[in-house]
Amino acid sequence: MENLLEQYANVVGNEVIDHLRQLAHPLRGMKILHINSTKEGGGVAEILNRLIPLKRELGIDAEWEIIKGEKEFYQCTKKMHNSLQGNRDDISSALLSTYENTNFQNFERLKEKLETADVVFIHDPQPAALLHFCKERKGKWVWRCHIDVSHPYRQVWKYLREYIKDYDASIWSLSGFVQPLSHPMYLIPPSIDPLSEKNIDLPEKEISDFLDSWGINRDCPLLTQVSRFDRFKDPVGVIQSYRLVKNYVPVQLVLAGGGASDDPEGEQVLQEVKAFTGDDPDVHILELPPDAHRAINALQRGSDIIIQKSLKEGFGLTVTEGLWKGKPVIGGDTGGIKLQVINHHCGFRVSTPEGAAIRIRYLLKHPEIMESMGKNARQFVLDNYLITRQLREYLTLVVALLYGSEESIELKLPDQ
Ligand code: UDP
Repeated sequence: MENLLEQYANVVGNEVIDHLRQLAHPLRGMKILHINSTKEGGGVAEILNRLIPLKRELGIDAEWEIIKGEKEFYQCTKKMHNSLQGNRDDISSALLSTYENTNFQNFERLKEKLETADVVFIHDPQPAALLHFCKERKGKWVWRCHIDVSHPYRQVWKYLREYIKDYDASIWSLSGFVQPLSHPMYLIPPSIDPLSEKNIDLPEKEISDFLDSWGINRDCPLLTQVSRFDRFKDPVGVIQSYRLVKNYVPVQLVLAGGGASDDPEGEQVLQEVKAFTGDDPDVHILELPPDAHRAINALQRGSDIIIQKSLKEGFGLTVTEGLWKGKPVIGGDTGGIKLQVINHHCGFRVSTPEGAAIRIRYLLKHPEIMESMGKNARQFVLDNYLITRQLREYLTLVVALLYGSEESIELKLPDQ
């Protein structure tokens, strides 16, 4: 059995893997700790799940912990998330106390690891206050922002900024999100893992069996949006687009989603979506468990067009996943989707249900364009959005943080 890095070499080439080995060489044995708020559901968990084993394979002592809290904690952090993405949602001082207390309790639980790690990556707002309690830290701390903070509700950003400003650096997915801070700020977009269950090639039979098991008609074009049930993902707008298309051509829609343990609003949004759908037999709402990676893979591969009609989106891994499967993507003209859906090249960016419907109809009428866009899409992800690229950029950042003041840094392959 090939080791993990050799498997990646088969996808991206040996040079890319050698480069990773070189960058990781000065970091071997170092403790790099990642902290976020959930092990499953949502894009951050998706990435960490794959990044940690890769770092370990490169000789880095990488670990992943999560911050844990009660219901009120997630209520607070979901409000923070919504406010950072632009909602004017004031957060009560009681909820903010819960946020601070929960961070303190988690600091106590993880104290040793937090104090001794060489580098700590804190993902998103949930664990951002841990640094405040870690007075004896040895390592460098980096805040990794995965959300669209281009137009935050100022009150909430001002509160959070007090914690973020003390970090040694921060990472953002695109320049439009960056907020003024005096530490070094880096732009590193997320990525997908081509070898994960979510993205590996699947046998045709598995794809058709999956569609059959959900009663999806394989002879009728299929539009799919995979997302947590979250208003920023605009599931209702997707149904409106589908209805506009269906006035002219037969089409089916799948909205697939499950909950994330750090997202308390999912159930309510799901009920709204079901009510809006009514009893249309061509709309399939698939509630999938958080580990249904192969099922989502089969669904994306069995679809004709992938939709991600978000109104706000930090990045949108589901977009990259669809592109990687050679599908044209109709994406909301927002946030990280702008980096991925290049108009007329691998899909279309849209701002309204009507706009989405026009583009969907156009694609369904021109299968040859869908095919060529699909090819472009796959190549675009290969060139830009695979995990090996993200890992290279993370390693470069860590090397710069730890050795940046030295006159030169020698990067060599481990066996040289
Ligand atoms: N996802 C999943 N099950 C679901 C909904 C989403 O596995 O029911 C996955 C999806 O395939 C993608 C990630 O969760 O890998 C969502 O990441 P994205 O960046 O698109 O959105 P986020 O949820 O982080 O806002």
